[in-house]
Amino acid sequence: MTDNASRYTEYFPYPLPRQGQSEMMTEIETAVDTGVNICAEAPNGFGKTCVTLSAILPWIKENAGKVLYCARTHRQLDRVMEEMLEISRHQDVSGVSFRGRRHMCLNQFVLENADIVAPISEVCGQLKATGRCSYYEKLKKTGDPDELLEDLAGKVLTAPEIVKLGESKAMCPYEMAKRLAKVVDVVALSYLYVFDPWILEVFIPELGTPPSKMVLVQDEAHNVPATALDSASDSLTVRVVRQATREVGDGPYRDTTSFEFCRALTRRMLELTSDMRENGEKTVDPQEIVDSVTATAGLDSTDRVLHHMKEHGLEIKKSLLKAGKFPRSSIHRVGDFLLEWVKCAKREDFAFFLANMIESGEGKRVSLDRVALNPTSVTSPILSMVHSSVAVSGTLSPLDAYAEMLGLGSDVVKATFRSPFAMKNRLGLVVHGLDTTFQNRSSSMYQRITDHCLAVASVTPGNTGIFTASYS
Ligand code: SF4
Repeated sequence: MTDNASRYTEYFPYPLPRQGQSEMMTEIETAVDTGVNICAEAPNGFGKTCVTLSAILPWIKENAGKVLYCARTHRQLDRVMEEMLEISRHQDVSGVSFRGRRHMCLNQFVLENADIVAPISEVCGQLKATGRCSYYEKLKKTGDPDELLEDLAGKVLTAPEIVKLGESKAMCPYEMAKRLAKVVDVVALSYLYVFDPWILEVFIPELGTPPSKMVLVQDEAHNVPATALDSASDSLTVRVVRQATREVGDGPYRDTTSFEFCRALTRRMLELTSDMRENGEKTVDPQEIVDSVTATAGLDSTDRVLHHMKEHGLEIKKSLLKAGKFPRSSIHRVGDFLLEWVKCAKREDFAFFLANMIESGEGKRVSLDRVALNPTSVTSPILSMVHSSVAVSGTLSPLDAYAEMLGLGSDVVKATFRSPFAMKNRLGLVVHGLDTTFQNRSSSMYQRITDHCLAVASVTPGNTGIFTASYS
């Protein structure tokens, strides 16, 4: 432990830390000072967000660093800013919470048309590059990020506040948040920004702070393994392949090579699923599938064909954009997916499937899937870049297993903090017959939940806080 591991007291915004909070702040501050990762478990209601921020901020301020505070839901991200606001009442600290473009973009043309074939990030990039987004053009004319921050009433802003500001100035809120992220101490953002390799590659350099001066917080870290695996997995449906076949079969974007390949790929996918049961999947060899499709289509090089399709798709998008239309290209999506599919084919941390699913309302869904198997291979790129990482959660037991799954390294500090509330004041109850799953949410279920809450509140001396799952 370093001698000065109590600088957190300058940042902790409340009169007195509760039992356990000082210990947790000391552990985190020491780990961050020494540049090691820490995995900490503390119960709900402990005050983990405030404790974590107060313990990391001293190192961040002394080293001109930046906290990347990752959480899963928008509510959790805004919560980080609420604690930052408290800290900012007596310390010069700044922060922004970030959301994806879908929640911060003002361009209706993009919002109404973006989908999996034409993701919002890609279309936004094309509009910016060609000067076709007025919200971005207006933002470009503002001064540097420091000036932007100085102009604002406060230095701690949630994503909804930035959206309001963007709307009032007709400037892109997403790009505004990105600019502000360069100059603030804490950026609260979704896990996707740090675990999606494609986003990570672009996003981190744009922040302008060397990763060695960043501390990564993984809030509710028990969610990280599943989120990391999701972000590295992908799938291509036969429906998109058929759309691609139509796109290049006739008309202005006609292309024989792409057409023959997509037609053969559709046939191959349907042939391979013909003997499969419904809702079944089988492992496949990506290279073998695309090579056999190339041969059936009478083409000579898989690699050349896939690159050709992707490039042809790019040309289609450019031409659509030029004509004022939405830049969507299915052939681009097919080429892009298959190039990645084949690139990962030899990796043991991925599995490759052909799936034959029946989906309610959509009928049969045949797809080629790339499924990530090892969360560590997704988390390790960012962990190897940053100064240290703090993983916190209310449910991380067993800590050893989670620390390993999160890729926190062998020298990780593991710490468990108990509830500060006296045992006699804690009563655990399990109620039968209440269900919050989507299909069972009905007015009668809400009424029953409310009745139970009222029953508990009416016999609880003092105030009652109710925690619920947060979906937005
Ligand atoms: S620059 Fe901003 S407003 Fe324009 S398309 Fe991109 S996210 Fe939307």
